[in-house]
Amino acid sequence: MDYVEHVVDLVGNTPLVRLNTVTAGIGEGPLVLAKVEYVNPGGSVKDRIALRMVEAAERAGELRPGGTIVEPTSGNTGVGLAMVAQRKGYKCVFVCPDKVSEDKRNVLKAYGAEVVVCPTAVPPEHPDSYYNVSDRLVREIEGAWKPNQYANPENPASHYHTTGPEIWQQTDGKVTHFVTGVGTGGTISGTGRYLKEVSDGRVQVVGADPEGSVYSGGSGRPYLVEGVGEDFWPETYDRDIADEIIAISDSDSFDLTRRLAREEGLLVGGSCGMAVAAAVRLGERLAAEGQRDAVIVVLLPDGGRGYLTKVFNDAWMSSYGFLPPDSSHATVGDVL
Ligand code: PMP
Repeated sequence: MDYVEHVVDLVGNTPLVRLNTVTAGIGEGPLVLAKVEYVNPGGSVKDRIALRMVEAAERAGELRPGGTIVEPTSGNTGVGLAMVAQRKGYKCVFVCPDKVSEDKRNVLKAYGAEVVVCPTAVPPEHPDSYYNVSDRLVREIEGAWKPNQYANPENPASHYHTTGPEIWQQTDGKVTHFVTGVGTGGTISGTGRYLKEVSDGRVQVVGADPEGSVYSGGSGRPYLVEGVGEDFWPETYDRDIADEIIAISDSDSFDLTRRLAREEGLLVGGSCGMAVAAAVRLGERLAAEGQRDAVIVVLLPDGGRGYLTKVFNDAWMSSYGFLPPDSSHATVGDVL
């Protein structure tokens, strides 16, 4: 019989899938391979960091039997933590701003987590801000532990020990460029460090960033793509790793996200479209320079089901001017 003891044992070892049509502008080469993280059991790359942060806290005695995990998160990290907590018998309390959709909150509740909702329209220093509420809960709940993915070294370490080695083995050491979006910076810092070390510095690491975010020289101006870009420099971001940062507009990110579903059969989130847009731009440049043998690996952090009312909804896209009103992108139910 072939089975695992628990669904958590399925985290990692995600496949590489060749991109075929969105890369048409690149021509014969370089090869562009997508590392598809939505096949993780919690549906995103964040399962990797959840598992490692929890196990490190257990070893350090910071998280004990019966303890409670408290984290300000509304998305993928919460799902990963809730899944690992369920396996190990911990409680979870997630704090999220009220702008987070009810669907996302319900996913966390479905895993048995408690969700505390805070007002979005208050400054970070306000007692009701979601940063302050989560700090207060950590103080008030006995046995509480806060993973703090923005400062926890186990976040990049999980990628150094899993994502990086997987990519190296899956490409037989032929990977030449690694492209990924940057949020906490855990993925780029850990995976990038490993790939640089194992290749004696040969692998080039390229960050993809929403236009306006600090990583590409902005001040944190609002953008719509979720999970990437910051308005501050997190401790988990290692400034020595990226060789280049490519800034991508919301419009280009969403356009590619929709094309990935329609043309490649990959229903993925908006930050995936952003990363692929950067990979395609890089591939076109390498092709123009004659570097046809390059092998670009681009990481796709999550699936698209959490974004059906946004990126994949024509009315939402039109309301931000991303689709012309007479768009030919008809959806089910439209009268043609
Ligand atoms: N895309 C999505 C959808 C995410 O949730 C995250 C994590 N915030 C990222 C990309 C970026 O990953 P990292 O935090 O490792 O930089």
